[in-house]
Amino acid sequence: MDEIQVNITDIKEEIKKTCQNCGRNPEDITLVVVTKTVDPERINYAVDCGVSNLGENKVQEIVDKYETVSKNVKWHLIGHLQTNKVKYIIDKVELIHSVDSVKLAEEISKRAEKYDITKDVLVQINVAEEETKFGIGLDEAVDFVKSISEFDNIRIKGLMTIAPYSEDPEGVRLVFRQLKEKFDELSKLNLPNTDMKYLSMGMSNDYHIAIEEGANIIRVGTAIFGKRNYNK
Ligand SMILES: *Cc1c(COP(=O)(O)O)cnc(C)c1O
Repeated sequence: MDEIQVNITDIKEEIKKTCQNCGRNPEDITLVVVTKTVDPERINYAVDCGVSNLGENKVQEIVDKYETVSKNVKWHLIGHLQTNKVKYIIDKVELIHSVDSVKLAEEISKRAEKYDITKDVLVQINVAEEETKFGIGLDEAVDFVKSISEFDNIRIKGLMTIAPYSEDPEGVRLVFRQLKEKFDELSKLNLPNTDMKYLSMGMSNDYHIAIEEGANIIRVGTAIFGKRNYNK
């Protein structure tokens, strides 16, 4: 457990240093702590260490942990979301990072309307066009955002990407840079129901570079909880 506290302190220090080196304000960076496969006891320990944003990539894990994890947190859905599961998390999550189809955006808007809320979402972009990953291609991003901006009960708050895994984190710098350029382009369009505010990119092995390239949400799991055990 102590390790978790040390890791969180280290990462906050790293965020601060990285920001200082590139002239950014560390307070502009939101650390989303990724808790997939982590049990509620350890998650609550992290919360006691000052963590307030948690990320899960599966609907079921959020539903399972929602009652046992401290209520003083904001949940982020960071993984692929099936249309038929929106109803289980619409009232539980602060931000959905993974909108990647018109059908999904429509369903989120429809469910949000029933709760009389607007749901903040990010559009997931598959910058490197990897076949194994979800997301919209960079070239289709503008048309896609335009088409989902007609739904009144979602707010498009920005973009998210998962960079390809690379031994050399420098290799992903261009991916982050391209996403930032698209983010800036979209910001200038002043589309309805759109308020480009968040750029969600960077994980345990590449968050420094993501921050240097403009990320304001980073999603970190392994560097806090250690290697995940998927076989429990
Ligand atoms: C698991 C996951 C992360 C965290 O990855 P780490 O390498 O453990 O920091 C970030 N984003 C998404 C979408 C993930 O699924």
